[in-house]
Amino acid sequence: MTGLHPKRLLGKVVVVTGAARGQGAAEVEALTREGARVVATDVTEAPGCRRLDVTSEQDWQELAADLREAYGHVHGLVNNAGVTWRARIDEVRPEDMARVHAVNVTGPLLGIQRLIPLMPPGASIVNVGSTAALTAHYPVAYTTSKWALRGLTRTAATELGPRGIRVNALHPGYIETDMTASAAPAFREANIRETPLGRTGTVDEVAPLVVFLLSDEASFITGAEIPVDGGLTAHGGVMSIARAMRHPEEAE
Ligand code: NAD
Repeated sequence: MTGLHPKRLLGKVVVVTGAARGQGAAEVEALTREGARVVATDVTEAPGCRRLDVTSEQDWQELAADLREAYGHVHGLVNNAGVTWRARIDEVRPEDMARVHAVNVTGPLLGIQRLIPLMPPGASIVNVGSTAALTAHYPVAYTTSKWALRGLTRTAATELGPRGIRVNALHPGYIETDMTASAAPAFREANIRETPLGRTGTVDEVAPLVVFLLSDEASFITGAEIPVDGGLTAHGGVMSIARAMRHPEEAE
């Protein structure tokens, strides 16, 4: 028990990809706190993480076989692993597209394919998209892969709904992790300028939504997409106009 509240994921077996650091690591912590038996996985070696490259069919097959033997079922899958690539449209190469899409789209597809045979009604899948999937974000390989992940989310929700399996996506804005730390400082500043809450987000502001979507509290929510972005995508780019009209002297 957490205070007077029962743990929301007690006894549920949940797989998290890309769990070695960043949002994935925070999700593992939050899910564990709520009583889930979390199988943390990552392509890199990390304490407490099973090695799984989301692009490898064999890795998924082995994981599914081990989970079948150990638990007999899986209640949750968090397709969190992702990579970025910041080439713009005039410089991106076919091999960049293929690599990024392999991790960000085919990876989640393989996870879904391999784990659904173990999923009972009530199971839940969460795909970690991005505000790139809601906008014309400039890194074209990344943006197109996250748009494709939206399509996968909706197709899977439609296909798996009759089996009682829910599939949803969340779309983080600028969250402080190694991924964003690798971008130029101007990227962070521009994001803050366009974010109504006026700041970046933390991994602990994303993980609670993953917990909720995996829990039975979300039992009638499927095919949904929820931004966790401080309002970045809500204004469709007109925040600067609103600001300019309130303080015309500051308008450029
Ligand atoms: P991160 O780079 O800190 O962590 C990503 C993790 O995924 C790493 O541990 C990495 O080893 C793992 N990974 C990469 N390729 C893999 C593969 N082939 N198989 C298994 N694991 C692999 O990034 P993060 O910010 O924690 O990102 C988590 C998710 O959130 C990603 O899908 C990312 O695209 C998405 N996202 C992040 C932000 C942000 O601002 N940080 C914004 C929007 C969306």
